[in-house]
Amino acid sequence: MIIFASETFCIMKKIVLFLLMSALVVSPAFAREKEKAPKNEKVKNVILLIGDGMGLAHVATWMISQDYGPTAFDRAQFVGVSKTYSANNRVTDSAASATTMATGHKTNNGMLGMLPDGTEPENIGELARAKGIPMGLIATSYVLDATPGAFYAHAANRGHFKDIMEDLIALKPAVLVGGGRRYFTDEKYTGGENMIDKAVQAGFTYCETPEQFYETEATPILGLFSEGSYPMVIERDSDFLADALNHTLDIFGKSKKGFFIMAEGSHIDHAAHANNAEQMVFEMEEFDKAVNAAFDYADTHKGTLVIVTADHETGGVTLLSGDRDYTKGESGINVTYSTNGHSGSPVLIYSYGASAWKFGRVMENTAIFDQIKELLF
Ligand SMILES: [Zn+2]
Repeated sequence: MIIFASETFCIMKKIVLFLLMSALVVSPAFAREKEKAPKNEKVKNVILLIGDGMGLAHVATWMISQDYGPTAFDRAQFVGVSKTYSANNRVTDSAASATTMATGHKTNNGMLGMLPDGTEPENIGELARAKGIPMGLIATSYVLDATPGAFYAHAANRGHFKDIMEDLIALKPAVLVGGGRRYFTDEKYTGGENMIDKAVQAGFTYCETPEQFYETEATPILGLFSEGSYPMVIERDSDFLADALNHTLDIFGKSKKGFFIMAEGSHIDHAAHANNAEQMVFEMEEFDKAVNAAFDYADTHKGTLVIVTADHETGGVTLLSGDRDYTKGESGINVTYSTNGHSGSPVLIYSYGASAWKFGRVMENTAIFDQIKELLF
């Protein structure tokens, strides 16, 4: 599929120009950002942004769609590489990878907060609760999905929604918002119990729309904004993730003990599973806004570390010249997929703010947790 087919020549001429200019302009700007990065500032707040399925080519497609920028990713102070393979496969799923980032242990694909031998390693939610540090989780899919789930739940399988809901009600993350209302009310998942009522009885403030969420600071907050997954950007505006992050930052900004937030651009993965480059760009636009919001917060709040990464690559995306003979002039870019599933490519880690330098290296995805634990807990 060739994207940016209209005015291709014009756009590509601009890109070539940009490339020529970037050699002169981008490098010194990057050096300045890196120098600005605080080296020994104590980490008080951690914002972890996960682009589900977001490989380097997804970021590059986003950059090309913006005529090479500047995007939020261009602001990163350090860039590292995360090796994402799981305990039982070189290609991970979201459950195994999120478990690793939330607990520091690799596990089998499909398992959530649980190791192959059935043990339940301590997760970031439990560490935060023990220290009285508020945790916020935001997903553009649904709140029980594997990526947010790994931060508060232990289940033998990511599809064991009742177990995951019981764990979330017991752990009480300060903020948990996204879609997925039907899992809390449909007896297929609940066994007949209304899990929203149960959450409210346990002390949660329940919100049914983003607007209700933006008007409350009464934690713990459970926001279920749609029956299934929250819609993809193609059906709404692209501000939700940044808005939800900014409101969570407003609430947590009053915490003397700091905070931990994980916000996920969940549908980047789904667009790539569908091999849909146009949707992928829309989802990247939303994620980019959230990354900018997090970096802006770090600029104005000392002790804030922002880590932007992915759980795995989806789609096996490669970027080919529109005309297969790239020795000729520009003829657009061809976003090409090699699979409807995930791939084993490592993913990048973009970091910013306090101790960001610690993520500027090649690392196992287990080390993302290890560093967060060492710095925050
Ligand atoms: Zn996926």
